[in-house]
This record gives sequence, structure tokens and C-alpha cells, in this order.
Amino acid sequence: MSDTLANKIAAGEVVQRPASVAKELIENAVDAGASSIDLIIKDAGSTLVQVIDDGCGMSRADARRCFDRHATSKIRSIEDLDRIRTLGFRGEALASIASISQVDLKTKRVEDDVGTDVRVEGGDVVHVQPCAAPNGTSIAVRNLFYNVPARRNFLKTPATELKHLTDTFRFLSLAHPGIAFRMEHKDRSLYDLPSISTDGGPLAALRQRVVDLMELDDDRSLLNVEDEASQVSVRGLVIDPTAGRRKKKGDQFLFVNERYVEDRYLSHAVRKAYGDLLPEKAFPFFALFLEMDPRRVDVNVHPTKAEVKFEDESGIYGFLKSAVRQALATANHTPRFQSGR
Ligand code: ADP
Ligand code: MG
Repeated sequence: MSDTLANKIAAGEVVQRPASVAKELIENAVDAGASSIDLIIKDAGSTLVQVIDDGCGMSRADARRCFDRHATSKIRSIEDLDRIRTLGFRGEALASIASISQVDLKTKRVEDDVGTDVRVEGGDVVHVQPCAAPNGTSIAVRNLFYNVPARRNFLKTPATELKHLTDTFRFLSLAHPGIAFRMEHKDRSLYDLPSISTDGGPLAALRQRVVDLMELDDDRSLLNVEDEASQVSVRGLVIDPTAGRRKKKGDQFLFVNERYVEDRYLSHAVRKAYGDLLPEKAFPFFALFLEMDPRRVDVNVHPTKAEVKFEDESGIYGFLKSAVRQALATANHTPRFQSGR
């Protein structure tokens, strides 16, 4: 099987929609040590998904190579392999994305005088040239699925695709308050989040990031959650039940070992902690970060599904519910009906 075909097949796994591209590009920018990340979108991502960072950049050789299958700079030793397993795929993202789009990469390292411009079309490198570029990396992904019409036709309405893009942007910005994040769609700024000093600790930084992201007047409606058991710990924020803002389900952010996951069971644990403090159909805002031994959790290696499986599911459920209930109690909120577990 040719590499181009292998990449196209892998792309079916990796790239479901423009938001998957945004996620991969932003995660690479984070890995590159960026302090500022811009996400630029046109036509809900169908014509352009671009990420610009001020991270470490790439040498000319690496810039050419990064679109090769399994080109990764992130596994150096066999010990790394075990650790990296949880990060999902190993050097497949750019190869996959480039096989089903038209990519323009511009990158420069601090130590280089000139940058490199690489263009790839449908997986073929069509241009490698020196270019003027700021330190860091810009990757523009144009016309996603242009050579896979069946997939292109599967894109949902622009409103839906844009929603996926903003959701992705939002959870990644919450996971990295120290990094400035901007998002632009159709030349209009959607988010402009300043970098936040983490000197005051991770929770203080997260509070400020949530205030900026959700455009809150202040952080008084956010309650700290912090708890630890023998196998697991949690840190984050939940909304004060009297804050009066009925948060939609989309405003629930759960991370396990720093990866964003969707888990209805654990969302339910948080909801349960509020009991009758909230109207029946209201879902509380939360941004919670669980940490546990990676061997006790299987964050699905499938790149597009944010699913997770815990060794001790009900233990984690009980722990999370009790942690949130404690946070509520600290703010003098105790549900009247305390159901069992
Ligand atoms: P992975 O992230 O699993 O290594 P990718 O296909 O996402 O695989 O990226 C391939 C390689 O390209 C990375 O290992 C990294 O060396 C390089 N790279 C990608 N994006 C950037 C970036 N924004 N800045 C610096 N290097 C990058
Ligand atoms: Mg990557």
C-alpha cells in the first residue's frame, strides 16, 4: 500500500471535521512551547483552518519531514513509548491532514535567519522554499476533503461545524491558561484571551481564564473544587447554584490527566451533587481536572472520540460527587434531598 493511500485511510480516523484539524494543530502548538496561539477560520473551516504559534519552530529538514507518516519528534526512547501511548497517535496527524487538504506551512526557529515555507497538496510536497517568517509556526489547512468529495459532502451545516470548532478552542484554552489564545472567523474576532500568570497557582489561573472565556463580570460565581483520595485527585471550578445563569450542557468541561473527555456518567455525578439546588433540567457549568494513575484509566486512543474508561468507574463517580458537594457546602449550599450515592 502506498504511503499516500495509507495516509488517506488514516485521515478517515483522525480527521472527522475541521474541528479535528484545529485540535491537532493547537495541540502541536502547545507541545512546541507556544505562549500565544491564534486559530483562524474561514467558512466554518471548510476553506481554511489555520493555527499560528510562537513556539520553537522547525528546521528546514524537519519542516519537510513533518508531513511524513510517523514523523514525530516526540518519541525519543523506548520508555517514552509507554508514556506517549495516552497521547493518541504518534506522528500521524500532519500526514493525515495533509493527505486530504492543501497545506501551507511557514516556520522559523529563533536560531535561524530565514524560515521555511512548505506546501503540500493531497499528501504531495509541491514546494519547499526559504521565506521570511516570524519565530514560530503557521500551518494553514485549506479546502479540507477537497480530494475526498464523499467526506466533504458529509460536513454538517456551517453553524454545526463552527460550534465544534469553538468547543474545541474553548476546552483547549481552559487546559492552558498560561497561553494567550485568539480565535477569528471570517475576519471577525470571536475570542481574545490574554495569557494568565500561573504564579497564583493553577486554580487562580483557571478562574481568570473562565472569566475571560465566558465573559463573566467577575469570578464570584465560581466555586473551587479541590479534593484528593488515594488513587485520584480533582481540581477545578463549578458554578455557584445561585448564580442564576442556567448553563447549557455545552459548558461542561471534564479533563482526565489533562485530556478533554466527554463522559455522561461523570457529568451526572456532578449534576447529582447539586441535587435540588438547581432546577430539574438545569445543567451546571463546570471545568474539572481529574488526575490519576494512567494505568487505571484508558483515555481512548481513538483520536476523535473523547471517551474514557476507568478501572474503578463507580469509585470515581462517588469521589467526584463528594468533591463537588464539599465545594458547594463550603459556600453554604446543601441540597435538601440527599439521595444515596
Ligand atoms: P505528533 O504531534 O504526534 O508528533 P504530528 O503529525 O502532529 O505528530 O506532528 C509531527 C511533528 O511535526 C511533531 O512531532 C513536531 O516535531 C512537528 N510539529 C508539528 N507542529 C509543530 C509546531 N506547531 N511547532 C513545532 N513543531 C511542530
Ligand atoms: Mg500532533
